Amino acid sequence: MPSGPFGARADPPWNKENACTGVCGYDALFGDGEESEGPIKLSEEIMSGEVKGLPKVNVVIVGAGLSGAVMAERCATMGKTCLVIDKRDHIGGNCYDYLHADTGIRMSRYGAHLFHTKYERVWEYVTRFSEWVPFDHRVRGLVRGKDSKMHLVPIPPTQKSVNALLGENIQSDAEMEEWYKKVRVGDVDEAQNGEEAALARVGPDLYEAIFRHYTKKQWDKYPSELDASVLKRLPCRTTTDDRYFSCKYQALPARGYTRIFENMLLTGPCKRKVTVRLNCDFFKVRSELPAHDLLIFTGPIDAFYTSQGLPKLEYRSIRFEETVHENPDGGYHQEAFVVNHPYPEVPYTRIVEYKHLPIQPESVKQGKVTPSVTHTEYSTAEGDPYYPVPNTQNRELYERYRSLAEKEPGVAFVGRLASYKYFNMDEAIKNALEMFDDLREKGRFEPKPPAAARPPKEVPKLDDGSAPPSSRGSVCSQAAANCAVQ
Ligand code: UDP
Repeated sequence: MPSGPFGARADPPWNKENACTGVCGYDALFGDGEESEGPIKLSEEIMSGEVKGLPKVNVVIVGAGLSGAVMAERCATMGKTCLVIDKRDHIGGNCYDYLHADTGIRMSRYGAHLFHTKYERVWEYVTRFSEWVPFDHRVRGLVRGKDSKMHLVPIPPTQKSVNALLGENIQSDAEMEEWYKKVRVGDVDEAQNGEEAALARVGPDLYEAIFRHYTKKQWDKYPSELDASVLKRLPCRTTTDDRYFSCKYQALPARGYTRIFENMLLTGPCKRKVTVRLNCDFFKVRSELPAHDLLIFTGPIDAFYTSQGLPKLEYRSIRFEETVHENPDGGYHQEAFVVNHPYPEVPYTRIVEYKHLPIQPESVKQGKVTPSVTHTEYSTAEGDPYYPVPNTQNRELYERYRSLAEKEPGVAFVGRLASYKYFNMDEAIKNALEMFDDLREKGRFEPKPPAAARPPKEVPKLDDGSAPPSSRGSVCSQAAANCAVQ
């Protein structure tokens, strides 16, 4: 039975590995007296999605998630005006969190988000927009052991997991190393796919119990059909360290992820320079967008090129089933924040109980809220795209889109969906910061010289003297027209 919240910190000595040791960072809205714990109410104008008649901006940014927000914040700080549009009714993209209407518990709408980074630049950047509290993410898995019983064990597997599941009696790092040497199959550096990577790291028994079926449920593909990198995301430990990540900084935003975006997009230089419109679908409003020098697109790259007739890229989405537990024993439904269910008998991958997190509103932290709420996660092919699916076939198809994107005038593609990369949050931020630097260096934020000052464009002719299809008016040239200085 669960008793009390799952600890936010790992046991010593592993908690010492986290360089975030106490509350750090700055929350400008809070500093200015904003007391709400949940997302702040946005103006009717923002929610209207109306872009018609807006004045010219330097940059239009499609998507108010991590990549879009970083781009907008950087542009505004540089003195550029931006319009950020998003088809959803909130900012924050998949990081969006909110207070559950009936219980006041802070929940993530699009699945558990755990911030961790080794990049100093990223850590320095994110601490400008939120206070952060240290959190050593630790996952438990309900896993069937050799004795056919279900055991709640640390994932990634530690000495404890191996002992419980496989009846071993490993007591030291050296014994665990020995055990791994006995069971490992092949060389991880030569692994050609996820199955070879997992077998080379943990051997067949742990692979079968923890990785094979979970992966099939999450990706609708067995590990053998995925890149080795997918299965290498989890650390492989010989120690008692049960933390999910090994990064230098591991923390959660004190007033939720949405607050980071509020501070990025609605305060400081952005207050004057950035216009936000939600409920605003780029593909519906693109002909109404104000004139701009650059369009930054952070949505799925294949959606941008639907009219090119290429096959669609593959993504995975998640369906969340919410359960309110009215009066759970001790106030909690399960022992840990995240419990993975890697066995094939159930269709879901994991159950998340947000009440365990240390970033809950005060009333929840003080035990004044009796119920708890869980999200059971089902991976699906339908719905909003969350994960690109990393394998050779998809990468090759993405390359075809990328070569179209490279030639796209006046448009830059940024982010997880636009670059079809399985970025963690910190990687998405780092990528956006670097893309911003690159675009600035290349002068892409600057207005293009008037047509008369530009050398005449040479339109290549086909053998019959006609223009090639790409210059005959397509999605690309339409986008280019919208980007022209007016
Ligand atoms: N994985 C697994 N069993 C688990 C946890 C992870 O098989 O209990 C595999 C699965 O293929 C997953 C990959 O390891 O996609 C990476 O896990 P991670 O937790 O990084 O996935 P994410 O957080 O992106 O959902």
